[in-house]
Amino acid sequence: MEILKNFKIDIKKDFLFEKLKIMKGSEDEKEISILLEKSIEIGRPKAIYLEGFIEKKGDDFVIINGVKFTSLVLRKNLENVEKVFAFIATCGKELDSISFKEDFLKDYWWETIKGYFLEIARKGLFEYLKERYFLKRMISMSPGESERFVWPIEQEKELFSLFGDVENLIGVRLTNSFLMIPNKSVSGFLFSGEKDYRSCKICKRKNCLGRSAEFDEKLWQLYQKEGK
Ligand code: SF4
Repeated sequence: MEILKNFKIDIKKDFLFEKLKIMKGSEDEKEISILLEKSIEIGRPKAIYLEGFIEKKGDDFVIINGVKFTSLVLRKNLENVEKVFAFIATCGKELDSISFKEDFLKDYWWETIKGYFLEIARKGLFEYLKERYFLKRMISMSPGESERFVWPIEQEKELFSLFGDVENLIGVRLTNSFLMIPNKSVSGFLFSGEKDYRSCKICKRKNCLGRSAEFDEKLWQLYQKEGK
């Protein structure tokens, strides 16, 4: 198990302003610049990972480091894989402890900034693992992503159990409804796969800004059939 904390904080101001549609020279620009400076001063994105060895493969489950994970899609993606990297990345509780609930716009800006910090941790971790373990085609899967049949969110509990006291380790905790706090956190498995996989291909959600691949009806039908 290893914890990564020293990520380089590099947020492109112009890119952020463009995303938030902030006009140059406006009052909004001044206010969000203050928030950005504050976030850079206090923000501590973090990530943790461990090597997970696949001990058993069933029809729709795998046992990794003694813990059972049930998901037909995960099982299929791990067909020729022997090892995964379980991970949790977060924007950090330092940013999460600040809230602007009384000011909707500021709160939205702050949440967007937190999202960038999460990306710094997630990307930094993936790049680190790619270099350190010579990973080639990197595939990541997270409980709760895409449609429910892909990998139910309840399996966050099993994922967290691999690490032990995650709150003490990197300040992330799981609620009774399996959501992570800080909300800008992500967890899952990363592994080297032979084929490309993206959950978006089997996700029917419409108008999703995060979509990275077209919905694939044939693939979706295949999983529906095999899951029965
Ligand atoms: S389409 Fe959106 S909700 Fe569905 S898996 Fe992709 S990013 Fe997630």
